[in-house]
Amino acid sequence: MKTKWNTDLSKKLYGTSVWSGQYFNINKKGHIEVTPFGHKGHKVDLYEIVKDFTQRQIRLPVLVRFSDIIKSQIDSIHACFAKAIKDHDYKGKYHSVFPVKVNQQSHVVQDIVRSGQGVHLGLEVGSKPELLIALSLISNKESLIICNGFKDKPYIEMALMFQKSGRNLFIVIERMKELQIVLETAKKLKVTPQIGFRLKLHTQSTGKWLNSSGSKSKFGLTTTEIIEGAKILKEFNAQESLKLLHFHIGSQITSIHPIKSAIKEAARILCELHHLGFNVQYMDVGGGLGIDYDGSSQSDSSTNYDAQEYANDIVFQLQSTCDEKNIPHPDIVTESGRFLVAHSSLLIFNVVDSHLVDQDRPKELQIEKGDHPFVCDLFEIYNNLHRTSVNESFNDLVEKKKDIHQLFSYGVLNLHQAAKAEQIYWMACVKLKKMAEGKEDDEDIFQYLTSALTDTYFCNFSIFQSLPDSWALEHTFPVMPIHRLKEEPDRYARLVDLTCDSDGTVHQFMNYEDWTTQKHLRVHSLKNSQPYFMAAFLIGAYQEILGDLHNLFGDTEAVHISILGDGRYSIDHRVEGDNIYDVLKYVQYHRKDLMNQIHVSTEEGIRNGSLSRKEAGILLKQFEKSLSSYTYLSELRA
Ligand SMILES: *Cc1c(COP(=O)(O)O)cnc(C)c1O
Repeated sequence: MKTKWNTDLSKKLYGTSVWSGQYFNINKKGHIEVTPFGHKGHKVDLYEIVKDFTQRQIRLPVLVRFSDIIKSQIDSIHACFAKAIKDHDYKGKYHSVFPVKVNQQSHVVQDIVRSGQGVHLGLEVGSKPELLIALSLISNKESLIICNGFKDKPYIEMALMFQKSGRNLFIVIERMKELQIVLETAKKLKVTPQIGFRLKLHTQSTGKWLNSSGSKSKFGLTTTEIIEGAKILKEFNAQESLKLLHFHIGSQITSIHPIKSAIKEAARILCELHHLGFNVQYMDVGGGLGIDYDGSSQSDSSTNYDAQEYANDIVFQLQSTCDEKNIPHPDIVTESGRFLVAHSSLLIFNVVDSHLVDQDRPKELQIEKGDHPFVCDLFEIYNNLHRTSVNESFNDLVEKKKDIHQLFSYGVLNLHQAAKAEQIYWMACVKLKKMAEGKEDDEDIFQYLTSALTDTYFCNFSIFQSLPDSWALEHTFPVMPIHRLKEEPDRYARLVDLTCDSDGTVHQFMNYEDWTTQKHLRVHSLKNSQPYFMAAFLIGAYQEILGDLHNLFGDTEAVHISILGDGRYSIDHRVEGDNIYDVLKYVQYHRKDLMNQIHVSTEEGIRNGSLSRKEAGILLKQFEKSLSSYTYLSELRA
């Protein structure tokens, strides 16, 4: 009856075709392969890469970034807008900027700027440090630099000076106070500023980030303020300076509807301003273009539209509103961050150990003379489990499970008998689960038992450092083994991390059969002394910078890979992960002080005779060596 397992079944089980965006696939060997140019382009085997890492002394967990995927995503969004503009005969142009806050790592931003050179991709910044990044990386006249966020005078001065020196830079007014400063400073510097207004729209987004939008949103000008702003611009005789309107209704927008209504609302404001004498050239629609992390089309980790639909709707809404009022089509700017980088990074980690639900249980267990009648009863239930009465037996068992605990605390069962009763209970659960499998009536019981009978796999990484949104927002990231995918995964496991926090687990996985989420994943039995490698995918957006040092697990190693063809690849950069010394420094422990303290205590040990001089020397050496070691576990299988 049982079909032999194969890679197609693995694809189905782990949903690879659903979330991979054409960038990941399972090859004939049962390994994950990376295909940055789609399934027909060049590919590399991820498992082979990990084996290489060991030889090159690159430690796990390791964050792997594929620059080619970033390039493909940039090309993809530009292609979508080019098509929409052509299909609709839209007159404005399309520009993209990457919001630096989504991933500020220098190699990533440099990759993006380099990959986007052909299409003049620009940068969006939300703070002074980010502005410095943008100014250092973009020096051409074509690429836009959009300055958002709270601004003080020095921020504005610097932005204007660089605009004067030839950058195509826009200062977006988020609060009325900024406008006056910009205009005065510009006058002083003798530069005509390029100003944008950030709109506070009424449209509310959907998904987890809906607070970025609506009338309660943190940023943006209300309609009253826009009118006030227009007046001030006129007073300064600076109508020409208002070049851009901007809004951002939230990240990972799950539904296309709020996007459409936001554009419509913003386009109306654009038309009104036009009639007031402001020839606004750019409509900057912000970020929010979502990624389908789970394929369900219905959760906050999913979307009910794709990039082409997004482009079509933006172009169509702008065009129809402008045509109605006879106003020239503005250029379109997007600030998509998540869309450009989410696919490009993944975290590879190894499973260091497991706790199996059945590992404490003997295969054979018999009733012996002297066993308590309760234990004998339970064994009777176990023996008589039958397919035809799954429900009844399940209820009996649940009842008995409660009794074990009570009888033990009343002193009726001794420790030995309580342990035996527990063992019988678990044996019965395993047996009952098999009986309930595939029977529609017993589906609930099967689910319950599956969840009760999950193993625990201990994984060499920190959720808080590497997948913070999984913990903070219950965001679903695809997680799966990267090899052995020709084999049937025979275990159900929760994945827990190395931190001592009970929240340090991967909170949810998508069940691609029925689109529900679950707390466990099907995985393979660990084989003696063989490493088991898994990966968390689509983590290129936001995760790195939001990650924290819980339990002092630091930054992981990061490796940048580009694909050469014929299965070959090159490692362009390796960014070493934090050593213990690095993370201790963040919390103000200094090497010299630490070493001194250990010195003092070993000297004391020598004085009172508990340490020999030689032992003291070894201790000191060991301590010093540990300071420069990785914060994660070094053995592939502990
Ligand atoms: C965060 C942010 C973005 C990026 O949003 P994504 O959902 O990652 O595309 C764009 N613009 C502004 C103003 C932002 O604050």
